Amino acid sequence: MDVKLSSQETEEIRTHLKVPACYQCKRCTNGCPVTFAMDLYPDEVIRRINLGHMDKVLTCRTIWICSACETCTTRCPNEVDIAGVMDFMKEMAPAHGVSAPEAKTRIFHESFLREIEKRGRVFEGGLMQRYMIRSGELFRKSMNGSIFEDVSLGIKLLKRGRMRLLPENIKGRKDVRALFRDEK
Ligand code: SF4
Ligand code: SF4
Repeated sequence: MDVKLSSQETEEIRTHLKVPACYQCKRCTNGCPVTFAMDLYPDEVIRRINLGHMDKVLTCRTIWICSACETCTTRCPNEVDIAGVMDFMKEMAPAHGVSAPEAKTRIFHESFLREIEKRGRVFEGGLMQRYMIRSGELFRKSMNGSIFEDVSLGIKLLKRGRMRLLPENIKGRKDVRALFRDEK
């Protein structure tokens, strides 16, 4: 697949997201909480872009797996906006005729966005419920019994304060919803 970047896309990548400043220290990857599910690590995404391997970047799972937590951007010593890169690649992929590589990855991404649209922030319980039902994972895991492992993990996260029991909405969620309406 031959991906030709427009001048605006090149400008965004080079100037606003500061991708050329990367010197491959891997601090971004070392702090990322979801590398276990990625096929390219965040530093590799940046490296591939600098090498012009846009086909590899736009077709990887990583850009859809990224949860936009911004840990990588905060850790980067060169102010490369890695989280912004992931977001920008999600926009670029369909614009260049590429969709999410797997249905489940797309469903996870859409479930994440619907949570933001509804509450202004992600409620992990709501996200997982939405994803598990839509992807068919709830049925599959219930049938083979592995759902109990997820429940056990959820209880551990609750006990350690890493997950909230009840959802919280932000004050300006009407404004967030308006942003989503403008997008549609
Ligand atoms: S932290 Fe910044 S400089 Fe280091 S590898 Fe990641 S993007 Fe490159
Ligand atoms: S924003 Fe995405 S790539 Fe960066 S640390 Fe968070 S999940 Fe990982």
